[in-house]
Amino acid sequence: MVLTGAGISAASGIPTYRDHGGRWQHNEPIQHGDFIRDPEKRRRYWARSVAGWPAVAAAQPNGAHRALVKLERAGRIPLLVTQNVDRLHQRAGHQQVIDLHGRLDQAACLKCGNAESRDQLQLRLLESNPYLERFTADLAPDGDAHVEDRLVEILEEPACLDCGGVLMPQVVFFGGTVPRARVEAVSHALAQADAMLIVGSSLMVYSGYRFCKIASQRSIPIVAINQGQTRADGMLALKLKQDCQTSLEALVNHLGL
Ligand SMILES: [Zn+2]
Repeated sequence: MVLTGAGISAASGIPTYRDHGGRWQHNEPIQHGDFIRDPEKRRRYWARSVAGWPAVAAAQPNGAHRALVKLERAGRIPLLVTQNVDRLHQRAGHQQVIDLHGRLDQAACLKCGNAESRDQLQLRLLESNPYLERFTADLAPDGDAHVEDRLVEILEEPACLDCGGVLMPQVVFFGGTVPRARVEAVSHALAQADAMLIVGSSLMVYSGYRFCKIASQRSIPIVAINQGQTRADGMLALKLKQDCQTSLEALVNHLGL
């Protein structure tokens, strides 16, 4: 089983949340409870997201994503689990992927569940808030970006087209819960796995780290390709402090794929 994190998408231009020492690189990302409860926090999220989304939408899979596709086609990876919400594994052609933290390219209504594509939502957001067009921002990994307070105050929040309810990106924010079915699917795959490969994750978020704990308890060897420290460093059979793309391309070449 393979578990990937933000480090694999860094070469695609989507920056990682944490530096090599595991510290926040940008402002702390939005918390689940804040999004649900606080309209001001939601407006801030959408203002940043409008600025950040085009770069996420335009990001292309890199050599590391493509190397994993080759490993899947060779029957080496029954399941890939990603903590990323950018869908770059699927766009590279990977078939069996669990988006542990959801997907940023869709939003859904908290009341009726109606889903809307993030691309369409972008057009609606810009229609209601044309001033957002003019401003560019630093990009953060969930399509978040830095934005001025005065823009947040006047932002018109998007509502569900069916019922007028609150729309939320279909991602698990910090402080949110990964759906149980998703966790069970990963646990099931892990029970069949003979090894676990971590690619580009510091495992600071518990939802990914817990699978390392399970693997370790079952004596399933864990290998990590990550330039910085990981929370599971003490459990690893092998650690490659290398760039994801270089390591995975070397592996694919070594296997003759
Ligand atoms: Zn609705």
